[in-house]
Amino acid sequence: MVVAVYPGSFDPMTKGHEDIAVRAARLFGTVILAVTDNAGKHYQFTLQERIEMAEACMAHYRLPNVSVEGFTGLTVRFAKQHNATVLIRGLRAVSDFDYECSLSQANLSLDADIQTVFLMASLEHQFLSSRMVKEVVRLGAQAQHMVAPHVHDALQAKLAPTNHPPA
Ligand code: ADP
Repeated sequence: MVVAVYPGSFDPMTKGHEDIAVRAARLFGTVILAVTDNAGKHYQFTLQERIEMAEACMAHYRLPNVSVEGFTGLTVRFAKQHNATVLIRGLRAVSDFDYECSLSQANLSLDADIQTVFLMASLEHQFLSSRMVKEVVRLGAQAQHMVAPHVHDALQAKLAPTNHPPA
């Protein structure tokens, strides 16, 4: 049974991420959605918040082979610790290609037993990113079509201008 790790910031989880996780669950015996927390990176949501939002997103699909975990440090090390041989990444249009290509090469050079498998983003999610969703909410618009309802509530509470009027 192949164990696959789907690593990412998930800051927050979008419908594009959900789609990749659900499709990966059909391909692999176990999928661990691994929420990264790296010291050099700024996140809008804490690790705990990102984990809880991702768990609630995935609970909706009732997939027994998908779990959510947080981690820090090297992705390949986390994968090894969980006996995973596959890393899943999503690819949108051409914009992701360079970054994802170098990331997968770096991971392969660190551990040749772990292969990165790319799933193409679905057509409706090609231009969806966590960054875009945050920007939309920060500017006072609705983003219900981009994220699950509980994620939208969390975004509104944290970023909507009505909750954070200019000083
Ligand atoms: P990271 O900081 O590791 O890039 P993200 O949460 O931004 O974390 O993305 C995690 C993975 O999900 C990446 O492989 C990214 O390309 C993919 N991804 C992000 N948004 C989408 C989307 N709309 N459709 C498909 N894959 C996506």
